[in-house]
Amino acid sequence: MSTTPARRTTRVLHTHADLRAALADAPRPIGLVPTMGWLHEGHRSLMQRARAENATTIATIFVNPRQFNEAADYQQYPRNEARDLAICEEEGLDFVFAPPVEEVYPPGFDTIVSVGAVARPLEGAARPGHFDGVATVVAILFDLVGAERAYFGQKDAQQVMVIRQMARDLAIPTDVIACPTVREPDGLALSSRNVHLSPTERAAAPVLRRALTAARDRWEAGERSGDALRAAMTRVLASEPLAKPDYVSVADGLTLAELERVDGPALLSLAVRFGDTRLIDNELLDSG
Ligand code: AMP
Repeated sequence: MSTTPARRTTRVLHTHADLRAALADAPRPIGLVPTMGWLHEGHRSLMQRARAENATTIATIFVNPRQFNEAADYQQYPRNEARDLAICEEEGLDFVFAPPVEEVYPPGFDTIVSVGAVARPLEGAARPGHFDGVATVVAILFDLVGAERAYFGQKDAQQVMVIRQMARDLAIPTDVIACPTVREPDGLALSSRNVHLSPTERAAAPVLRRALTAARDRWEAGERSGDALRAAMTRVLASEPLAKPDYVSVADGLTLAELERVDGPALLSLAVRFGDTRLIDNELLDSG
């Protein structure tokens, strides 16, 4: 909750051994923020929440090759470690863990953490192997850090569900906390991938948010048909020629099964391509 600029020095660690040693006598509780770097206001919001709620805070910066289902996407993922470290310092984090790929996946590494049903639809179907990569690296990080709490963005809603399932099933006592999506003023969710959008694609990209809002408006007006809500999103996306929808979903908020009728908590979500850049966004419907 601190509003004054941070004055702590952030310690950067690169190996599992150094990380375990540094955290052995760190004040508890520990708050963990896993990232792939190219940090933006969305990441900062997770760091600020972690700092407000924990005695020790650590971010990880690791572009995890195993969660990319396309090699080119991994190669082109934006990276700038110096800038990222400056942001972690500004946010007053105690530690940054930035391991090389060989530290996380040494020769002979041969284990996959694979979550079941909740990892299969949506991003799991569109990006085969993606959630195996996510669950595997997050299981490693959870075990290494032993944090009381870990912070994730609701922007990746299915990822939060997959990680919660993984932590529950593996009896990892880290609380998985979902934080609200941070957006540009025009509604576009902040994402490291936004840097790849051309100016015209960037101008078109807020259509994701408009599509979600249109469906939410229909739901608030009483519409409960899954097809009608999907059609409302598809119609808005069709108004933007540069937007090429990958999927448009109205799914059960707990199981992610596609819904015929929305009678309880539901997740509206979509994935849309603009040229080579694929963006996702979502909106939770919960009258609860
Ligand atoms: P990434 O570096 O893209 O893997 O993201 C690291 C964490 O930041 C994940 O938990 C994301 O869900 C979260 N995140 C990414 N974008 C946003 C955003 N716009 N608002 C809030 N959290 C975000």
